[in-house]
Amino acid sequence: MCGIVAYYGHQNGISISLKGLKRLEYRGYDSAGLAFLENNQINIIKNKGKIKDLIGLINGEQANIVISHTRWATHGQPNHINAHPHFSMDHSIAIVHNGIIENHADLKKELTEKYNYKFQSETDSEVIAHLIQFFYQGNFEEAFRKMLSKIEGAFGIVALHKKHNELICARKGSPLVLGLGENEYFIASDPSPFLDHTKNVIYLEEKQMAIISENHYEVKDFNGLNLDVEMEEIPFGIEAIQKQGFKHFMLKEINEQPNTIRDCFTGKLRNIEGIGIKLKTNIQRVVLVACGTSYHAALIGKYIIEKKSNIPVIVEHASEFRYRKPMLFPSDLVMAISQSGETADTLEAIRLAKKIGCNVAGIVNVTGSSIAKECGQGIYLHAGPEIGVASTKAFTSQVVALNLLNLFLNKNPYYQYEIAEELRKLPKIVEEFLKNEKVKEIAKKYFFAKHFLFLGRDINFPVALEGSLKLKEISYIPAEGYPAGEMKHGPIALIDSETPSIFILTKDEVYEKVISNMHEVKSRQGKIICICDHVNEEIEQLADDIIFVPKVIWELSPIINTIPLQLLAYYTADLNNREIDQPRNLAKSVTVE
Ligand code: GLU
Repeated sequence: MCGIVAYYGHQNGISISLKGLKRLEYRGYDSAGLAFLENNQINIIKNKGKIKDLIGLINGEQANIVISHTRWATHGQPNHINAHPHFSMDHSIAIVHNGIIENHADLKKELTEKYNYKFQSETDSEVIAHLIQFFYQGNFEEAFRKMLSKIEGAFGIVALHKKHNELICARKGSPLVLGLGENEYFIASDPSPFLDHTKNVIYLEEKQMAIISENHYEVKDFNGLNLDVEMEEIPFGIEAIQKQGFKHFMLKEINEQPNTIRDCFTGKLRNIEGIGIKLKTNIQRVVLVACGTSYHAALIGKYIIEKKSNIPVIVEHASEFRYRKPMLFPSDLVMAISQSGETADTLEAIRLAKKIGCNVAGIVNVTGSSIAKECGQGIYLHAGPEIGVASTKAFTSQVVALNLLNLFLNKNPYYQYEIAEELRKLPKIVEEFLKNEKVKEIAKKYFFAKHFLFLGRDINFPVALEGSLKLKEISYIPAEGYPAGEMKHGPIALIDSETPSIFILTKDEVYEKVISNMHEVKSRQGKIICICDHVNEEIEQLADDIIFVPKVIWELSPIINTIPLQLLAYYTADLNNREIDQPRNLAKSVTVE
């Protein structure tokens, strides 16, 4: 994780980098720093804390060549010494690094024991700077490449040498994108830091490096061979990454859902065969691999595809999947689901599936991301940048995308037509629902609760999981998501008169069953908040609070049911004064394993 911004050009790269880091803060925010070149000397300014703390340390310094970093620690405490950039021992080189150098301990041992190198930090990253120094004999690029040949693991690296007016960067496993402006260049973890300067970009691919010098850039492979790479244009503008009057990005993103849902299916419903997946073989099974919120979307996909298209679906946590012996067959369709498209475990799972010869495809938000590239095909969400760390709009778009996948697999034109019609109606329904202030009132009633339960059955069981995850992520209140029918096998012990249970109740085949589960909670004096699309007298008596959602078709009900849960988490966290867009210990794009 972490964010990298580097600048080479005629403007003040320090202010550009700081502004850029702020936009990348969602990727990591325990410490931050920058290094710049001035009269053949490298200066480093860094600190524990957020970008605003780093800004406080800047005293009008200006520079045209700058590298900068916001950290999400993997090795070593988030403190001043471990913050990036890191110097080489002789201070001739500074580096920033995103990822993990897996063989750092061996390299460090060799450098310290054999060559008497002194390390300052506890990070795995510092070894990169020392290795460049070790190999340097007047040619920065050559020393950098030799360093690359020694390190193992995942990295996005940018390095600076005091004697060379150059920036050198490389990627393997962690994203880096070059921004090409008018006689100025940017390097960053995603394009948001430089969107107000240029929309022209080159996404570095695996094992590519770039050398940037005055008015010139080159992209090479790790052996130093020049590569012909294509420039792309970013399809969205600066407004996509601003708050536009909302108190938090998360609230803005929740409110964007009518549009993001629409953008996910637009252009795809008329020709569902052309959604972007080509199968090499007839498929016998779908394997959905994902992490976190995307995993919950995948579970919803399983309910839909198995019930409506009669194809077996298994859903896997990517981090588990890749380390056991997964039973995969060439007749499987393995789909990776990831908002960022950079989730390290999911990416590796896809590589594994490719080796076995499976059909692979992605459901990804960020175009040009590693997973999108590795899969080479799939469904883009087109939800725009999601900046709040807790995923909201990407989740509902993933559920739309999984519905599209289901239509693609289903092949029945009548069914396809029916769902397409329902999907077209959905954005308006969501827009109307978002005007509702009820969830805010309910949050005021329960925000001090010590513990919450989220309960649902069938397709709304994953919705319960997602509701509880949202609440945990941003309010830090312990919450349990559970199949409502399983509750009596354990979690019912948690019920007391202080514990709110949130039931997701849709008028479907399990409606009556869920009502029975509500009775189980009520008879133990538990508080009940009921999210439902059909109210009767029994529910009115059972529930302490009701959030009424509009009736939509079963396949789309998880979308309309999740939105009040996102809002409940949001308002609960806000009333508890949490840092909603940047919750503690979390980062948006999990590029480490
Ligand atoms: N592994 C490095 C560290 O702990 C980089 C982490 C990151 O990507 O922010 O410093």
